[in-house]
This record gives sequence, structure tokens and C-alpha cells, in this order.
Amino acid sequence: MGSPSSDFIKEKFAEYYRTHSSAIRSPSSPEKREFGFFLLKERIMLRHKAFRNVDDLTSFLEKVVPSDVYYSSAYYEDPEREMEKKGWLGADLIFDIDADHIPTPCTKTHDRWICANCGIIGRGLTPQNCPGCGERKFDERTWPCEKCLESAKTETIKLMDILIRDFGFLPEEIRVSFSGHRGYHVQVEREEIRTLNQMARKEIVDYVVGIGLEMGFHGLRDATILTGPILDDSGWRGRIARGTYEFLLKATPEELKRAGLKKKRVDTIIKYKKELLDSWKKGGPWGTVKDLGVDSWRKIVEHGTKIQSARIDTVVTTDIHRLIRLGNTLHGKTALIKIEVPAKEIEDFDPFTDAVVFNKGKAEVIVSDAPKFRLGDEVYGPYKEEKVELPTAVALLLLCKKAAKVIR
Ligand SMILES: [Zn+2]
Ligand SMILES: [Zn+2]
Repeated sequence: MGSPSSDFIKEKFAEYYRTHSSAIRSPSSPEKREFGFFLLKERIMLRHKAFRNVDDLTSFLEKVVPSDVYYSSAYYEDPEREMEKKGWLGADLIFDIDADHIPTPCTKTHDRWICANCGIIGRGLTPQNCPGCGERKFDERTWPCEKCLESAKTETIKLMDILIRDFGFLPEEIRVSFSGHRGYHVQVEREEIRTLNQMARKEIVDYVVGIGLEMGFHGLRDATILTGPILDDSGWRGRIARGTYEFLLKATPEELKRAGLKKKRVDTIIKYKKELLDSWKKGGPWGTVKDLGVDSWRKIVEHGTKIQSARIDTVVTTDIHRLIRLGNTLHGKTALIKIEVPAKEIEDFDPFTDAVVFNKGKAEVIVSDAPKFRLGDEVYGPYKEEKVELPTAVALLLLCKKAAKVIR
């Protein structure tokens, strides 16, 4: 027997899997994948399952009604056996972009943590160690916030651009999905990349993140005159140039100072901003202003590089046995679905409309604590210890977030 809240969640999740079995997205070669499920009531992960086909999988979902459904990015000879005996055949290339890895100013308004040891409560990103007692165990609440998801989308678009323009993947080989919670998944399925080992995947990660870029190898040269990359150079050269342009365009004196530039250089940049920006039409700003030498440019370029790199969760891409959420299944923390976003529509994609599936009915709940948020066209909250009647999707989001309880 579960609580009324978990009974309600299970009832609704069951209804979804009963009526949407044809929507469940089968991965390619489902019989070679390992499946994993998080069980709603038992709160445990059931792994190492295999299915002959998608029909067997959907009837399993209808029967068991898990809170989360995963499959392996890897292909195995025998997915049900223990890890070492599965017979790894290869894995898709996957990227995870999660707001947890992107510093956003709004995290302080919607995320909080409680130390499991001393009970101190803090706002924003969870610290490594508790400032009160030094322990490392926290109860966290993060939120699928609109601004955070917008930043995650920006990172996703940068990643897609790198994969297509620099790696040469075809747009139709890349699948982008909203994860159902705080980010996006990008997945590349192509025969040649399947057998890449961890080291090879690490190389791809380093490229995407822009790790170890040595400017000397990317066109910045201090000969008689200082030269550097230009905007339409290919690969990282062009990215560095475009990032540097963007940084110069937007940077405030404070940001330039934070980049490690001395006051005099900051003043020079602000004074010659127009000349510096105009210079991109020709050979770039390198060497156009006397005061700015190769060391200053290195500092500026470093920030340009950061602007252009894609903030991915690097661990996910290098893990060749990773379990990833299955398309069109529910996310146990939100009751939204993981949904594929056609590459052309990503700019207009709205996770708070497009990933909502419980569009009927209402439920009465007691909300303990929730920030202001939007779902569909309506804005809800903030709530604090109050009884409210809400549309099913909204009530479910709060229940899954453990921010509310059902009244029956
Ligand atoms: Zn503590
Ligand atoms: Zn946010």
C-alpha cells in the first residue's frame, strides 16, 4: 500500500501507458538493448531486462507502471546477463545537457538544499560540503525552470552546430529530445561511431567543450604584426573568432576586468570598441590597437572560447554502458514526457506545452512549498502550505516533485 499521493501518481501513469502504447519510441535494435526501470512504490531500479520487441516492452510498461524507463545506449549480444557477460557490440553517441551543469542566476530563486545531517537549508546550487557541519549528504530540490531550460536549449543548439559543421554528421543522424526535466538529450546513431571506445569518446567531449585549445595552433601569431583567426574560419578557429567577437560586443568593463585584464587595457577596449568590432570585416581585431598585445588577446580569447563551447555532462558521453531515458515515456520527477524535438523546430519548442500529456481533469492538493512556474499558458504559484485545486498535469508535477500531497 502506498500513500494517497503515490497511488494517484501510479493511477495516472498507468492510464498514460494504457492509452499511449503506440507512442512509445522503440530504439533501433530493441532486442540488443538493456532496459532499466525505476519502480514507483519500491523506489528501486530494476535493470538488465531485455525485450524481443517493442510490443513486449509496452505490455510490461502497462503491467508494471514504472516511474522512469531507460534503455542502454549500448548494443549487446545478451542484454539480460551480468555486465561483463553481456557481450558489448557498440553504443550510440549520446550527449546530455542538463541545467544542473549550467550556472544560471535564477537557481537561487527555485533550487534549495537541506543538509541531511544538520538540517541547514540553503538556496541555489548545492555546495560540495555543508557549510554548517561539513557533511556531504543533501536533500535537494531542483526545478524545471523556464530560464534554465532556455540556457540548456542554447547549449544544445551550439552542440548541434559543432556536430554538423565540424564533425560532419548529417542533420538526420542527430536526434534531439527534451529530457522531461531540466535538459536535453542529443543522440547520434551511425554505424561508424558505434564501436568508438571510451578514449575516442573522450576526444569528442574535449573538442565539444573546447578543452586544451592552444591559441598558437589556432592562428594567433605574434610575428611582425599580430594576427589571429577570422570569423568564417572553419572548426575551432572560426568558433574562437566568433566567440571573441561576441565577447567584445557585449562585455562590460567589469566582465573585462574579471577576464583578468588590467584597468588600462579595459579602458582601451571600451574606447576603441567600435574600431575593434569593425575590424572583423577585414583581418580581425588582432594588432589593430597598440596597447593590446598577445597576452591580453589570450585572456579575451579564453572567454570567447567559453561562449562557443557546449556545456555537456561529460561523464554521460564517455560512458559506453549508459542507460538513457526512453522517448515518449514519463519522467518520474515531473510527469512530463521525454519528447523528440525536430531539429528545425528547436527554437520554438516549448517544453512546458509540448511535453505535457495529462490535459484532462483536476485534482485537489496541499502544496507545501513551490516557486512560481508556468505550465501551458497558465502561471502557477508561488505556493506555501496551501490547499489548491489544479489541472491534473500541474498537480502531478508538484506531487512528483514531492512539493505537494493529494487530498482524497
Ligand atoms: Zn550540515
Ligand atoms: Zn532557473
